[in-house]
Amino acid sequence: MTKKCEFRKKDGERCDANAQAGKDSCVFHDPAPLRNTTEVSAFLAKSINQVLRGALDPRVANSAGYLANVLLRSLEQGPLEIRMARLEAALDIAKDPHTAASGKDSLPV
Ligand SMILES: [Zn+2]
Repeated sequence: MTKKCEFRKKDGERCDANAQAGKDSCVFHDPAPLRNTTEVSAFLAKSINQVLRGALDPRVANSAGYLANVLLRSLEQGPLEIRMARLEAALDIAKDPHTAASGKDSLPV
């Protein structure tokens, strides 16, 4: 028998989702945040399987899927912003055209 999540909802009812292997909570009530795209992908895969097994309310899965998609975009955006900042610094280009140095070193916006 699969262990159930130990999280209690506001009304005291226990979460009906299956606990993650080796943990006391489901993926939704795990206090550990999703920190990278690999963890978000694993979360999505687990959620899909839970929906297909009927262990997760599709409405909750839809909401979590939407938020996971936003998180994925955010996780992907962070490294791009760092790379862009490094490129701008290397090329001596400021992000704000109003504060950028004028002259031949500035690129047209
Ligand atoms: Zn739960």
